[in-house]
Amino acid sequence: MMKTLFLNPPSWEDFDGGAGSRYQAKREVWSFWYPTWLAYPTGLVDGARLLDAPPEGLSQDRCVAIAADHELVVLHTSSPSLRKDAETAEKIKAKSPRTVIAMVGAQATAQPEVVLAASEAIDVVGRKEFDHSMREIAEGRDWSGIAGIGFRRDGRTVQNPDRPMMTGAELDELPFATEVYARFLDFRKYNSPYCQYPYVSLYTGRGCPARCTFCLWPQVTTGHSYRTRSVENVLREVGPMRSLFPGMREIFFDDDTFTADKARAREIAAGLGPMGYTWSTNSRANVDYDTLSALRDGGLRLFVVGYESANDGILKNIRKGVDLRTARRFTEDCHRLGILIHGTFIVGLPGETPETIRESIEFAKEMDCETIQVSLASPYPGTAFHDWVRENGHAVVDPLVDEGGYQKCTVSYPAISADEIYDSVERFYKEFYFRPRYIAKKVKQIVLDRHERPRLLAEGRQFLRTMWHRRSEAKGKRGVATSPGATAGA
Ligand code: SF4
Repeated sequence: MMKTLFLNPPSWEDFDGGAGSRYQAKREVWSFWYPTWLAYPTGLVDGARLLDAPPEGLSQDRCVAIAADHELVVLHTSSPSLRKDAETAEKIKAKSPRTVIAMVGAQATAQPEVVLAASEAIDVVGRKEFDHSMREIAEGRDWSGIAGIGFRRDGRTVQNPDRPMMTGAELDELPFATEVYARFLDFRKYNSPYCQYPYVSLYTGRGCPARCTFCLWPQVTTGHSYRTRSVENVLREVGPMRSLFPGMREIFFDDDTFTADKARAREIAAGLGPMGYTWSTNSRANVDYDTLSALRDGGLRLFVVGYESANDGILKNIRKGVDLRTARRFTEDCHRLGILIHGTFIVGLPGETPETIRESIEFAKEMDCETIQVSLASPYPGTAFHDWVRENGHAVVDPLVDEGGYQKCTVSYPAISADEIYDSVERFYKEFYFRPRYIAKKVKQIVLDRHERPRLLAEGRQFLRTMWHRRSEAKGKRGVATSPGATAGA
């Protein structure tokens, strides 16, 4: 086996690449998500190390020094962070020319040639599910026989055929990501704005059957079939988590849509209930009351729900597959059962106008979620939304983040400019969070919940700081070519 490092490389201090970025990002509040996709191959390669630079606060120089002591370094990259990650790869190569450098992730899948072209220092890319292709490289196999990779040979690039997606049974054979975390990560350095601190996340399956046009992961890496681990396998991983992570307050099942298979979700909940864990997960807004009730009884605390917009025309345009009536019913049921919701919204989707943004803000207030997240619509390569904005002349700025790592608005429409879309994010947040009723609820939580108090106060400060940053950014970029219909890129 090659001496291998799986590296989530350092990014900008205030990186906010949006939902398609690598795991680590400082959005409106500070959050570090687990590098789960790197944890699986780490567990497959004997002697491999997993290094997650951003939560460790490691500088690029420090990472380069560590990486240079390895024969194979696998970096997780993304569209917004590619420039920065290529720079890290170049520094590793300069220090250790014999180190093989691989790049993996959604960007390496959607545009493998672009990633290889980003720097001569990048030797190979791993597309889609790269767990076993990285293991095979580490084993020293001939690259021409490894499915799912692309590389340089004799002055040109070669893209091997795709690797078949893993089946549920094959997912059961993977190492437990949480055991890898316990060996290499400090779980107290991970934070999610909607989970109780400290939390630990894992996946019980891969893929999402929905077809939302903007959504990166199923379209690019994990596919539209929800491939699930067996309930027994999931419960076997969860069982020892309390002792692996002493003081952990919550588990987050990070499947794209945990409730896509309702019967299985209920089975898992039935197994989790007696273990006494509190957990949260992602769901679409279309789950029936009985299932919600069963999940709540099994310890479910919170759902992350992608409402995206409150305009049925936009929901149709993006193929959300859940209408507003269903979303309202689902939300009412969650409120009745005491299940909290972190509602996510996107501004700048096809059909957006100032009026539809107003509808979304009013809807978010009506839904009265525990917390919300408002994202700029980002046309990530490999998505139908990316192709649509380019074909229709709505792409205005490239790349997706500015020099400081902050997400930019890169779409503009005849009815609403990129600047107006960008500015609406702050308005959305302010109107939602600065309601007397919401403030009163949070003040009560701060007074009564001593565990959550420090986090809520810290997040309040971070939120205000980020809003201030957004305002300065908005002022600074006035005059940039973001008028409706302007285009950049292909
Ligand atoms: S339901 Fe969620 S995870 Fe699935 S495609 Fe839509 S946005 Fe993506």
